[in-house]
Amino acid sequence: MKIVTIIGARPQFIKAAAISNAILTHNQNNPLEAINEVIIHTGQHFDPNMSTVFFDEMKIPKPDYLLNINSLGHGAMTGRMLEEVEKILINEEPDYVLVYGDTNSTLAGALAASKLHIKVAHVEAGLRSFNMKMPEEINRILTDRISTLLFCPSETAVKNLQKEGFDNFKSKVLNVGDVMYDTTLHFSKMAKEPTFELPENFILATVHRAENTDDINNLKEIFSAFNTIVTEIPVVLPIHPRTKNILEKNNVEISDRVQLVPPVGYLEMLYLLNHCQLVMTDSGGLQKEAYFSKKYCITLREETEWVELVDNGVNQLVGASESKIIKAFNEAKQLKPNFENHFYGDGKASSLIISHIIKYL
Ligand code: UDP
Repeated sequence: MKIVTIIGARPQFIKAAAISNAILTHNQNNPLEAINEVIIHTGQHFDPNMSTVFFDEMKIPKPDYLLNINSLGHGAMTGRMLEEVEKILINEEPDYVLVYGDTNSTLAGALAASKLHIKVAHVEAGLRSFNMKMPEEINRILTDRISTLLFCPSETAVKNLQKEGFDNFKSKVLNVGDVMYDTTLHFSKMAKEPTFELPENFILATVHRAENTDDINNLKEIFSAFNTIVTEIPVVLPIHPRTKNILEKNNVEISDRVQLVPPVGYLEMLYLLNHCQLVMTDSGGLQKEAYFSKKYCITLREETEWVELVDNGVNQLVGASESKIIKAFNEAKQLKPNFENHFYGDGKASSLIISHIIKYL
């Protein structure tokens, strides 16, 4: 059997690491039914610390195709990916195309495959923010609709698809758990102390979502909140290249105690997650990783796809409001969140995904 995996952005490398690993294990145990995985890297993220580091540290097989499509508007980027991926798929003739999450690479890959009548498996299906202004929401809704196998990370995701009528479609909706939980469990023993100096107590923060970076007022509010919070506890912030450029271009005031560091590798990220006091982020993935690391998360967005975390009091949505961020930080000091629920499976999502793909060949 041949699978073409399409990845292009940081969170996809992290999810693909779990699946590539499961394919390797499957091939070792079933040499006569080995899966041939062909990897296309669209090049959406290309900096060494946004791409190469994950392939190296997480032992993701080297991409068979590197498309180098980046730094373009949504239309040009998705269009060029669609064109290039289609050519490769015609040549490779895979049984399945595997796409992850909600980026332009996800949509381009799913679209190219479905028009060639190649089955699409979508990892992280069914997530919804119900905010159609998010490019990610558009990508994930369209990808889900043209996928054959929809691998949901949570019960909430299954329910979202049921409400959209997926019970009436030919596709299969399966709750397999979250591959990011597999990744966390697998790599946590290998967590690596960063090379930069780390304060003893700190808040771990990341900011990169378009709704924050494309609105300078939002970015200013968030950093004003950080400037106040650091009078009590330092903030360590691995900074996304896009956010860095916008902050610099707009001369946004940032206190010295906000420690801006380059993006870190996944193993360093696990170390930061394990050693921080709490997390402040607009990242989708980091909200869950905070939960896996038993850390309270203040989410710098108005809504989240991971609603079960909010409903269970381990995550609070504050948007980009300076006063709400500071209020949530002050309240968090008194909280005793319960991290004992299991919303995202048992850490075996990737091997379940492989067995379903074989079953529904
Ligand atoms: N991440 C990382 N280094 C960083 C920032 C994030 O390894 O400097 C990881 C993080 O642990 C998570 C993933 O990247 O696994 C999340 O990606 P991102 O926040 O870029 O995207 P999102 O999850 O919001 O789609």
